Amino acid sequence: MSSGSTQTNREKVSPLGTVDTDLHRRGDETSAEVKLPPIAGEPQLAAQWARIRGRLQSDVGDVEYRSWLKQMTLAGIDGEEVTVHLPSRFLRDWVRSHYGEKICTLWQEENPAIRRVEIRVGAARPQAGLAESLAAAPMPMPPPPSASTRLGAAPHRASDELSAPLDPRFTFDSFVVGKPNEFAYACARRVAEHPGSKEFNPLFLYGGVGLGKTHLMHAVGLELTRRGAAHSTVAYMSAEKFMYRFIAAIRSQQTIEFKDHLRSVDVLMIDDLQFLIGKDNTQEEFFHTFNALVDAGKQIVVSADKSPSDLSGLEDRLRTRLGCGMVADLHATTFELRISILEAKAARAGQSVPSRVMEFLAHKITTNVRELEGSLNRLIAHANLFNRPITLETTQEVLHDILKAHDKRVTIDEIQRRVAEHYNMRIGDMVSARRARSVARPRQVAMYLAKQLTSRSLPEIGKKFGNRDHTTVMHACTRVSELMTSDSAFAEDVDLLRKMLES
Ligand code: ADP
Ligand code: MG
Repeated sequence: MSSGSTQTNREKVSPLGTVDTDLHRRGDETSAEVKLPPIAGEPQLAAQWARIRGRLQSDVGDVEYRSWLKQMTLAGIDGEEVTVHLPSRFLRDWVRSHYGEKICTLWQEENPAIRRVEIRVGAARPQAGLAESLAAAPMPMPPPPSASTRLGAAPHRASDELSAPLDPRFTFDSFVVGKPNEFAYACARRVAEHPGSKEFNPLFLYGGVGLGKTHLMHAVGLELTRRGAAHSTVAYMSAEKFMYRFIAAIRSQQTIEFKDHLRSVDVLMIDDLQFLIGKDNTQEEFFHTFNALVDAGKQIVVSADKSPSDLSGLEDRLRTRLGCGMVADLHATTFELRISILEAKAARAGQSVPSRVMEFLAHKITTNVRELEGSLNRLIAHANLFNRPITLETTQEVLHDILKAHDKRVTIDEIQRRVAEHYNMRIGDMVSARRARSVARPRQVAMYLAKQLTSRSLPEIGKKFGNRDHTTVMHACTRVSELMTSDSAFAEDVDLLRKMLES
């Protein structure tokens, strides 16, 4: 397939699938054009929408859901038609063609009055009522494990109902190890090999969002199963699900069964424990389960966004016990680790991605591996869909929304100040006409960084550097790139500056 490579041509590519054929004849949509009628029965709708999202997530899997569907918002309902928003044209086309029918079917199952689902480009619905009730709507209880449940071929055990399914992709093998996560990785491996050993019980993993806590916990579960966990039952669940289970058990007067069930496992993993802050009864229940299991030599693995001592709001006695085993921190990723992760993911997907693109992504998306991975998935999907190679240009186009959010908004003034400081030169020489190497080179570095880190055009940058011509800026960029390849000490210097400016 050749779809042409200009922007205009690309925009003409018609959406591939249909939800409502009428919709596609209406041309482009913007959020401003979308009519948002008042919504009747908002709480029910919110609940229906939450269930639909829950089902989508369990049907397509976490990674796919996060890459494509998570940003969907319910924009409105008008009689028999529901409108759903996505933040970009590309996402809209993709979701329409790949999930449009499914979303429509799910709506019809939830609400037979719905006949059509419109998927449009638009921001999240600003209207307070629906947005709030959607945000507050409890996630539905998970659907009963179906034939397509990810544990699939694993033998049935008592813990199957208790444990959330483990994502088969989250193995130790697929976890890329680097300085920031090697300790946590080693601890998790150790627990999977010798569950219940005293120094590692409980294992407490903590770190920021998207740094691999859930991945490592699933890896522990998968490894235990792989090692023939016949004598070991493994339960993994989020703290949130733990709470819902607990509340459901109270409601159905089955707390004793629930407790027995929990205490029958050999390994209990609770993800995102910070969720239990302020949920005193659930904390209490968790504390008792925790003690019963640890006393019986069973393994506990817990994750949270902060260390036990920083989890204020958690009961002191629980906090103390959580810190008694091994506490392992997943540090923020380094540039090198992000590159390794991108390389590994691209190789796994069998897609060649230019190293310039990977470097660009690793520089831009620094805080969250999930987002890094989602961006790569989107690039790969886009390349396959339009049969176009991945380049820096397509990357900027396809990831426009994500990159915008990550723009650190470094200013040229800031760059000049930092670079001048670094090379011990007067800030005034950034704009002066002096041509001595000792000032000209740092000036070129600053121009290069201005091009890399800001969205300013070459002429705009030239203007900020003492009204220099845009060709001077261009020359500076080329010269610095060349020097970076030939002189590694210089390259390190520039990278360091960039990191300081980005942090
Ligand atoms: P957390 O639970 O800490 O928020 P996750 O474990 O959900 O983060 O990780 C987010 C995504 O990033 C997952 O898809 C995971 O596979 C991926 N990921 C995170 N760290 C790594 C790593 N070191 N190697 C490979 N993939 C990783
Ligand atoms: Mg997680």
